[in-house]
Amino acid sequence: MKWHLHACALAVLVACGTEAETETPSSDAGSPPADAATPVDAGIDVSDEDAIAPCGERITVERPDDATGYQLKVMYALPSDGVDEQLDTCGAIARSIAAITTWFVKESGGVKPRWDTFGGALDVAFVRVAKTDAEIAARGAYVRDELEDAVAAAGFTDPKKIYAVYYGGSSTYSCGGGAYPPTLYGHVAALYLKGLQTAQYPCASNPVGASATKPGYFEFAILHESFHTMGAAAICAPHQTMTGHVSDGNDDLMYAGSMPWYPAHLDNGHDDYWQHTNTGCVDLSKSVFMDPLPANALAPPGW
Ligand SMILES: [Zn+2]
Repeated sequence: MKWHLHACALAVLVACGTEAETETPSSDAGSPPADAATPVDAGIDVSDEDAIAPCGERITVERPDDATGYQLKVMYALPSDGVDEQLDTCGAIARSIAAITTWFVKESGGVKPRWDTFGGALDVAFVRVAKTDAEIAARGAYVRDELEDAVAAAGFTDPKKIYAVYYGGSSTYSCGGGAYPPTLYGHVAALYLKGLQTAQYPCASNPVGASATKPGYFEFAILHESFHTMGAAAICAPHQTMTGHVSDGNDDLMYAGSMPWYPAHLDNGHDDYWQHTNTGCVDLSKSVFMDPLPANALAPPGW
């Protein structure tokens, strides 16, 4: 699958590394990978139609977790006036996470992200944000910060969770954003599903969960933003560039640069953020957010 990126003009709105006055923009400020993309192959696989789950109950509270400790909780959030596409209740988000997990297990040799589950199934919660789409988008590079506040206001404040939010609202800035500790602390990694509406390739030109086995743009993007939120790629990573990205290959999950993003690999060369030997630098193969839990697992910087 390939995505061409056409967000360079938008990326200069807040140049990489520009210090904001009161807050740090999410790590994708100025970074092309999650900014905009067009799916040449969006991962649509009609053979997966029979994998579509029946629409189920909407969950708006924390339910008991199958596992204790650190985990990634997946959420669907809408602005007050956002159109409800039932991505949480009709299976799209579950397929999306299943697809990226399939890819991850293959790339890692058996490890997968530690997703929050309930009764053995992905536990997706829903939040209706009090503000309108326009009010939230008006925050420019800080839509992620708005979502961080909204998720907390809805009662999702577990200090051991990353909230991976599929936000069905817009952004004038990018298709997603993450925290980036220790530069920017936060518990929300987010996709802006209706972002960049006036771009050549709006974020919404990509489907969510088109396949339960083949990840598309948004599947790689939610993992990309979650990795930022865990602290990758750290400043000490040899190929780190553009606030948490890597420069050694546009097929890297965490790539940012002038080339189109063709995500296919987890840390090219294993030297920046996964299974490397750079002692003291964030290595997510040792993260508390991995399953099975690594020996002496580490939380993100500052957690
Ligand atoms: Zn990024």
